[in-house]
Amino acid sequence: MRLLIMGPPGAGKGTQAAFIAEHFSIPHVSTGDLFRENLAKGTALGQEAKKYMDAGEYVPDSVTNGMVRDRLKQADATSGFLLDGYPRTVAQVAELDGMLGGKSLDKVVVLSADIEEVVARLLNRAKEQGRADDSDEVIRRRLEVYAEQTAPLISLYASRGILVEVNGIGTIAEVNDRLMKAISA
Ligand code: AMP
Repeated sequence: MRLLIMGPPGAGKGTQAAFIAEHFSIPHVSTGDLFRENLAKGTALGQEAKKYMDAGEYVPDSVTNGMVRDRLKQADATSGFLLDGYPRTVAQVAELDGMLGGKSLDKVVVLSADIEEVVARLLNRAKEQGRADDSDEVIRRRLEVYAEQTAPLISLYASRGILVEVNGIGTIAEVNDRLMKAISA
């Protein structure tokens, strides 16, 4: 099972991805989490990523692609994975295609949520978790970058016939239910 979960920041990807990965016994590969882990450990990669994350910009491909390539080579990812937050640009799609060496993703799920809802959730998360990239200004920039660079991936994966869109508004359990049905369909 090779899956990708997409959606604007604040759509609830991380929470849902953790459930799905557990359900299918596949690793949850989140680039945002990998960057934050690196930062917590004080690695050079983490320091480099922080400059971009704090501003709501994407970390350069020269840093991101290698990190994902290394992660997907690990033993637990050989029979499947759930990608969360990668690819995020058309160039990263091409990189991932290369990493998969002719194999396709089985499904790409887009969690949709309207902007008002997403901003409210992110501001709330900022209060609860204190993430540096959840300030008002940075949230706006992250949404802009998503619309410019990541939203085009929706039609790209739709044209490959592997895209499913799921309404991300509702309780965690409701959204989880919709996602499971969409993935199994
Ligand atoms: P996330 O936790 O998925 O919201 O990611 C947090 C931040 O990590 C993003 O705002 C970006 O700065 C960075 N990031 C995560 N994934 C990628 C990616 N695929 N390409 C570039 N930057 C990324």
